[in-house]
Amino acid sequence: MPIPVERAEAFYLPPPDQAPETWALVPPAERVFRWVELRQQRRITPPDGYVIGQQIYARINHNRWVADCPCGSAQVVTPADPRMACTECGYGWVQLVFPENVAAAEAAVADELPHLRNWWHPDDPAPWGHPPSDAPADPATEPPAEPASPIQEVTG
Ligand SMILES: [Zn+2]
Repeated sequence: MPIPVERAEAFYLPPPDQAPETWALVPPAERVFRWVELRQQRRITPPDGYVIGQQIYARINHNRWVADCPCGSAQVVTPADPRMACTECGYGWVQLVFPENVAAAEAAVADELPHLRNWWHPDDPAPWGHPPSDAPADPATEPPAEPASPIQEVTG
């Protein structure tokens, strides 16, 4: 059986001393708040409202569905509950954009080793960590020009 692309509901799990179904009634997009609370030992609550008119593109990063907050933080997300709120800066809730065919995106990376599985939404105008394919060549990677011939003409 292939290793599935990880989603929030399988990533943000209660600690081992609690029953696995302890967070079953917590919506998948809100489990990150429980998870961060446990690790940071501080109370954080999800925001109440939606950020209207904003959306964030989900991507596959190292075999996890993730979304990036404008603050630079990221979290594991899920197409089963396509929204995110940031545990770092308080941004959110924001609607997430998953591909229409999630299974096809996951299948596109399935032949790679899990740590090499990366996918970006083709409509994402600013795909994090994905260099634009039409970017000009980086002059730093251009091969150096041929050096001048070291042979000097000897006269005399
Ligand atoms: Zn944030």
